[in-house]
Amino acid sequence: MAAAAIGKVFKNSAMKITVVESSAIGTVGVGEATIPEIINFNRILGIDEREFLKFTKGTFKLGIEFVDWMGSGSSYFHPFGRYGTAIGSAPFFSLLAKAE
Ligand SMILES: Cc1cc2nc3c(=O)[nH]c(=O)nc-3n(C[C@H](O)[C@H](O)[C@H](O)COP(=O)(O)OP(=O)(O)OC[C@H]3O[C@@H](n4cnc5c(N)ncnc54)[C@H](O)[C@@H]3O)c2cc1C
Repeated sequence: MAAAAIGKVFKNSAMKITVVESSAIGTVGVGEATIPEIINFNRILGIDEREFLKFTKGTFKLGIEFVDWMGSGSSYFHPFGRYGTAIGSAPFFSLLAKAE
């Protein structure tokens, strides 16, 4: 991703980019989600979001539910980005957290 971004931003320069990888040392290779900034990242690279999702078989994730995080039986949602409708000055997720 870094090489792709640098390559795009400096496409008119003489800079040469070399990606260094070792077949003897594996990648971290974990994780199943990313954050909303991926939208801007893909835009910078000119990647079409629909094509991206189709190719990666990706889905949209609106948040994470943390179960038993604050003790047994507790749970709460950590939303990614903004969603829901604010009531007055209170954002939706604050109202949801209070109601739970
Ligand atoms: C438990 C866990 C969960 C995660 N969940 C997420 C997630 O949900 N979403 C997310 O976006 N990120 C997640 N991450 C982070 C993400 O996986 C890493 O940030 C990302 O994989 C790092 O990529 P990288 O290319 O910097 O490093 P790596 O993928 O580790 O690649 C390093 C490269 O360097 C090469 N290399 C190493 N040493 C040498 C050497 N001496 N000579 C030559 N080559 C070498 C290796 O062969 C490898 O190709 C998670 C990480 C962990 C640990």
